[in-house]
Formats: sequence, structure tokens, C-alpha cells
Amino acid sequence: MRDIALVATDVDGTLTRAGKLDPGAISAITELDAAGVRVLPVSGRPAGEVLGLCRYLPGVTRGLAENGLLEIVPDAAPRWLAQPTDRARLEAIGARLNAELGAKLRRTGDAFCRIGDVAYERDGRGVEELERLKAAVTSMGAFLVWSSVHVHIAEAIPDKGVAVLQLARELGVDRLRVATIGDAPNDAGLFVSGRFGVTVGTADVTEQRASFPALPQLVTAEREAGGFIELARSILRHRV
Ligand SMILES: [Mg+2]
Repeated sequence: MRDIALVATDVDGTLTRAGKLDPGAISAITELDAAGVRVLPVSGRPAGEVLGLCRYLPGVTRGLAENGLLEIVPDAAPRWLAQPTDRARLEAIGARLNAELGAKLRRTGDAFCRIGDVAYERDGRGVEELERLKAAVTSMGAFLVWSSVHVHIAEAIPDKGVAVLQLARELGVDRLRVATIGDAPNDAGLFVSGRFGVTVGTADVTEQRASFPALPQLVTAEREAGGFIELARSILRHRV
């Protein structure tokens, strides 16, 4: 914790509480920035929404959108960090799930802000139903992953961690001085063993643990933004 120079954080369910940015999390980001610790949002949200976060969150100057497909820096063009996706192919798979499996997937209202990702509203689907759809998508030659809010159909298993590693390298930050935090299976790339100095899940991870290909080293006592605040306090306490 003493050596952490960058916190790569998921947004929904990690900086939010009941769907809204948490004032305590914003204060924690401000304090981390003042202490010289960079905060990098790493979200499954669209490029357009991450742009807003990067522009307005205190101390935040860049972020990763669409589960790590794109880097967003205000007033610069979005940058692909992965192979550009074939959205038409992925949308056709979503249409097949609806037609053949009665999936009733609804495209997210934010589709117009997305550059590479194809996402649907989670609409309260439980893990069992999501696992059913995941198996079907795998058999169709693509991948399905979900967050607390969305279901994504992707060309490759989304890996936020690969994007964070690339950015850390470019920014000259040792990957072992990076702490990561997230709440849902689309954050599993942030938890892969050996990639980062400290990996943290919010308390929400515990009940979904069977859906994570990689688990964090630590889990916070609190859920959602409460977990982020716990991590920030721990980093700040060790720096004093
Ligand atoms: Mg999340």
C-alpha cells in the first residue's frame, strides 16, 4: 500500500452507490490526487460517458472505456488499445440470442456513445441466466461478460487488466505500484495474479465469486463505493 502510485478503478458499483457517483468516493479521489496517487477509471461504460468522467472528476486526466478497448483523454481523439471490433457481427449474435433463446436483450440507451463495444441492459438478470447466455455466445464464436448494469458481447474476453498494464508502461508507472479495484466479473482482468501490486474487490465480489476467472487478493468489508473509500484510506494511511 505504501508504494502505490496509481489506482485503476472500475466505476459502476465501485465509485458509485445505488447507481450514482458517491460524494465520499469523489473526496477520496481528490485526496489521492493531492497525495500524488493517480486515479484511472477503467469502465465498461462507453467512450462518450468515460470522456465526461475524465473531464469532470477531480484529478482525473484519462480513463479506459468499453472494458479497456479504448483510452480516453479529454480534447484528444479516443485511442484503440485493442483490435477494433466488428460491431455488426456482435450485434447479429445478440439478435440470435433474442430470436433463438428468448433472451429479451435490450440494447443500452448509451449505444450512440459506444465506439467498439456492444452492450445490453442487464435488466436484473441473475447469474444463472447470464451463464446460460454466456454458453450460447461462446458456441457462436464470441464472448459474453457482465457488470452490475450491463451485458457485453465481445470479440475477445474483455480484459481491463491488459489495457491498464499498457497504460502503466506508457506512463512510466511500475505495474507493482498499481492498485486495482472492481466489483464484477468484467473486472477480472484487474485481478489476474502477478500483474499488479495490490488487487482489491469490493464486498460485492464474494457472492459472485464462482463467475470470476481471477479473484482479487483482498476484499473490502463494504460494498460499492464504500469499498473504494476503504482502499483509498488504506493507501493514504500508509503514505503518512
Ligand atoms: Mg462495476
